[in-house]
Amino acid sequence: MSFQNGNMDARSSYKFKNEFGVLSKSINTMLSLVQENTILSSKAVNLSEVILSEEDTKEFFRATLLALIEHTGSQMAAVYLMNEEEKLLEYFESIGLDDTAKISFSTEYLEGLFGTAILSRKLQYIKDVPENSRFIFNTVNGRFIPREAITIPIISGTQIIAVISLATISNFAPRSIDFLNNILITLSARIEGVLGYNRIKRLKEEQEQQNRELIAQKSELTIQSSELTQQNAELEMQKKQLDEASRLKTNFLSNMSHELRTPLNSVIALSGVLSRRLMNKIPEEEYGYLEIIERNGKNLLNLINDVLDISRIEAGREEIEITKFNVNNMIEEISALLQPQAVHKELNIVQESSDSNLFISSDIDKCRHILQNLIGNAIKFTESGRILISTKISEDSIQIKVKDTGIGIPKEHLPYIFDEFRQADGSTSRRYGGTGLGLAIAKKYANLLGGTISVESESGEGSEFTLILPQNYSAENKIDEKADEAEIKYPINKPIVEPVNKKINSDSENMDKTILLVDDNESAIIQIKDLVEEMGHKVLIAKDALEAFEIIEDIIPDAMVLDLMMPDIDGFRLLESIRNAEPTAHVPVLVLTAKHITKEELKELKRNHIHQLIQKGDVNRKELQNAVNSMLFPEAVEIKLENRDKKTIKDKPLVLVVEDNPDNMITVKALLSDNYKVIEAVNGKEGISMAISYKPDLILMDIALPEINGIDAYIEIQKRPELTHIPVIALTASAMNHERETILAHGFHAFIGKPIIAKQFFDVINEVLYGK
Ligand code: ADP
Repeated sequence: MSFQNGNMDARSSYKFKNEFGVLSKSINTMLSLVQENTILSSKAVNLSEVILSEEDTKEFFRATLLALIEHTGSQMAAVYLMNEEEKLLEYFESIGLDDTAKISFSTEYLEGLFGTAILSRKLQYIKDVPENSRFIFNTVNGRFIPREAITIPIISGTQIIAVISLATISNFAPRSIDFLNNILITLSARIEGVLGYNRIKRLKEEQEQQNRELIAQKSELTIQSSELTQQNAELEMQKKQLDEASRLKTNFLSNMSHELRTPLNSVIALSGVLSRRLMNKIPEEEYGYLEIIERNGKNLLNLINDVLDISRIEAGREEIEITKFNVNNMIEEISALLQPQAVHKELNIVQESSDSNLFISSDIDKCRHILQNLIGNAIKFTESGRILISTKISEDSIQIKVKDTGIGIPKEHLPYIFDEFRQADGSTSRRYGGTGLGLAIAKKYANLLGGTISVESESGEGSEFTLILPQNYSAENKIDEKADEAEIKYPINKPIVEPVNKKINSDSENMDKTILLVDDNESAIIQIKDLVEEMGHKVLIAKDALEAFEIIEDIIPDAMVLDLMMPDIDGFRLLESIRNAEPTAHVPVLVLTAKHITKEELKELKRNHIHQLIQKGDVNRKELQNAVNSMLFPEAVEIKLENRDKKTIKDKPLVLVVEDNPDNMITVKALLSDNYKVIEAVNGKEGISMAISYKPDLILMDIALPEINGIDAYIEIQKRPELTHIPVIALTASAMNHERETILAHGFHAFIGKPIIAKQFFDVINEVLYGK
């Protein structure tokens, strides 16, 4: 009854050895069993409540371990969690465990208390814990080694996720193993749930943390982005300022080119005028000063031109015009142009080529500029020996080598000679002159054309410069307008053709033409007036466009010389107006300017049909007279000698040179002028008429001539009995033997190849004229 009423300890006290005694004992055993089962159930219920009460991992395991200690009569309980790599059981929480025993266990060395539990995946109960156990725990009486221990593997699916360890210094409570086995599934599920929940919680927290960081980063990025926007705005502004500065610089340069060249041109031109007028009128020493002024003026002008070239290249304003031309012909022209300096030093210029027809598509003016500099330097820095210019094609490039036997360049200076204003050493400029800009410009031009220049040199042994240019220049900014430019002779920095023996104004029919000069520069006016009046023409002067209009209302001039940079209405607009008015639409106009002409401006000038464009600084008196002359008498082919009768000329042999290339003409004249009188003709037709008029002692006939070629001109001359006795020597660039034979087969007396080599030249002439 009492058991029924809840007293689980109530037992029957009947102990006699009779049937009731046996029954009473059985009942008592059953009651004990019921009591034990009831206790186990209540422990299980209690543990379930405990393990469900906490969510936080730490709190959960603490509560669970406490309940296990209580229900199993342990003194120590600890839990170990499997790490992510499943290699280590990490100590997590314990009750009653010594600090030194709070360690983790590797699953790779499975031994001792944990080993069997993990291997068997079953709860392990060990009664006599070995002395060397790692489990030591504190009691009020000190530190003890347990006597009994239980190891409980917690399994999720097939994986061990944790291990719980219980230990006691005496014995576990009865039926503890049954209790533990009963609750193991529930406990494992709950542990898995708590660990999973906490893992998710942790991930969530991490995620939140990451989100917070991302938000922080985002706001930082927003700040940076607004800073960048501000920087961009500043950069944009700086760029605008730079563009503006660059525009101003370009304007400044363009104006400076005008402002500097104009006065310099005056200095050069007027010193020229004075030298002519004062010749034999002032003491020789003072007369010499004029020459110095002119020479230095020219040097300064060269320097300014170089500086402007460099600035234009650096400002990216250099325009490139592509045409196809023969490199060897160009070298020949340049050699002929520079020949006088070489002849002076008795240097031989030798040209060598793998192929006489080496064509290149590139900018002809820039190529000429580069080569003129390289060959010019070779001559300048060589005192004796020879200059060898060799060309060859290699793959898609043309290689041009200029090799001299000159002073060479010391090793330590080699890396710098392409730098601006760099000369091998200061004394070079004192001795040889120059500005140190030539190679810098040459290199920049070569680079612009997609090529390179390099140098090999040894002090005292000579130098070898190598220019390599692509055979076909390619760039998007390729401009090909050269073809229709032939009508305008631009630029006019060509060699000077001195019409020494030409003078047209002796013919009264040609006199008294009226030329309107429009220029605001006083010294330019004096210079041009002087030279035009010398030619026998009348000059009207207008200092600006309005004055020009006033004059034109009264008189339509035969020709005009026009400056471009003038106040108020500039030369471009003036030109446009006169072209739009019927009476002046066809008046030839020669534009004479110190301004750098851009491509656009050149187009405009061409559209308005100017006769010729001459850069003020680049031209000399005779050339200007020639230009004025060709403007007034475009058809003139008859060129008469200046106030001389033929007998005077006959004092020295008279040689007629028929040559259209000004460079070659100047070379031939330079060679001949000491011992011969030279008259010139620039095409076949002119050659024939001059031969008829002057019956020269010798004719030097270029073969490739415009209008009538040299062979046909020769045949024409030979048809006239009065001329057949005149020896005619062919001058030609064709070096091929069979061409030489063809030319000789026509009957020419001899043949001189170009480039002209002085000794050979005179040998042939002497042979033809004097048979020696
Ligand atoms: P410069 O106007 O002084 O000739 P460059 O730029 O053309 O200027 O040449 C720079 C320097 O390089 C020259 O002053 C000279 O010292 C050296 N140099 C150039 N070419 C040669 C050469 N063929 N032989 C020796 N030195 C040379």
